[in-house]
Amino acid sequence: TEMLLEDLPGVGPATAEKLKEAGFATIEAIAVASPAELGTSADIGEATAAKIIAAARQAADIGGFETGDMVFERRLHIGRIKTGCSEFDELMGGGIESQSITEIYGEFGSGKTQVAHQLAVNVQLPEEYGGLDGSVIIIDTENTFRPDRIKQMVEGRANELGLELDADEILKNIHVARAYNSNHQILLVDSALDLANELKDSGRPVRLLIVDSLTAHFRAEYIGRGTLADRQQKLNKHLHGLQRFANLNNAVVLVTNQVMSKPDVFFGDPTKPIGGHILGHTATFRLYIRKSKGDKRVVKLIDSPNLPEGEAVLSVTKDGVVD
Ligand code: ADP
Ligand code: MG
Repeated sequence: TEMLLEDLPGVGPATAEKLKEAGFATIEAIAVASPAELGTSADIGEATAAKIIAAARQAADIGGFETGDMVFERRLHIGRIKTGCSEFDELMGGGIESQSITEIYGEFGSGKTQVAHQLAVNVQLPEEYGGLDGSVIIIDTENTFRPDRIKQMVEGRANELGLELDADEILKNIHVARAYNSNHQILLVDSALDLANELKDSGRPVRLLIVDSLTAHFRAEYIGRGTLADRQQKLNKHLHGLQRFANLNNAVVLVTNQVMSKPDVFFGDPTKPIGGHILGHTATFRLYIRKSKGDKRVVKLIDSPNLPEGEAVLSVTKDGVVD
């Protein structure tokens, strides 16, 4: 948007300056803030903050409608990225689908980041080899992106498929940004949209956006707060931004999520994904990954609009995700 912060009702030059210093530099950033945090950062009352946020939401034009025929036409072009494991692909109806958000959650070390790295390689392959001829954007919140691991996986794929693949070229098509806090993470989706626009006609459009991890910052920043409502509201906005990215770029969006252990739970599953209901309703596909024997991992499809629930066994080896 061309709008300046000063164009928002109740925001004079001094308040605009305070907001910028506090990290609310754009209309979009304000649109996803909570009245409490905005009020505190800019020394204004919560009621005023709420009015500013409401105006920013209108100006940021979050949301919007599409007609049914537009949705139909768009969905004709859905693509799939193969995972490297045929059972996993089958579970997902042929691979991880574009125009959707796929969430993979599991404990520390269960293999979420491995799956993310593998898709960052596979999306670049030609369609006949299970890719989408695309490039990748990774929003890395935990500093776990490893180029060396990508190189190993490229070698694994090259051997498996009998292809010559240039690992350095593949690394050049992976655009990584560190996110330093949840606001920054949300803003990076806008930067991702800009980059995807730039690359649209490059012959290597962005067909995969990874957020690894989606929830870590949110979880850390909102620890010990009285209410989770603010966190959920921001996460909700973030997820809508991601869904919009998936639609506009016909891209796969993969987000990782931790589980929280509930030591106080004596019955049922003691681990639950972070993010609660909002994430549950916004992610199109939810996968639960857990360690099994040796290098084996079990992925369970928990929730899908059109696929049956089920499980697949994959291995994480030096070559990456394999059968
Ligand atoms: P998280 O779910 O926390 O993101 P990761 O995806 O980082 O977990 O998984 C880490 C695990 O992946 C390691 O414990 C190991 O089992 C496996 N792994 C990582 N790198 C390699 C490798 N080069 N060769 C074989 N296995 C690996
Ligand atoms: Mg990880």
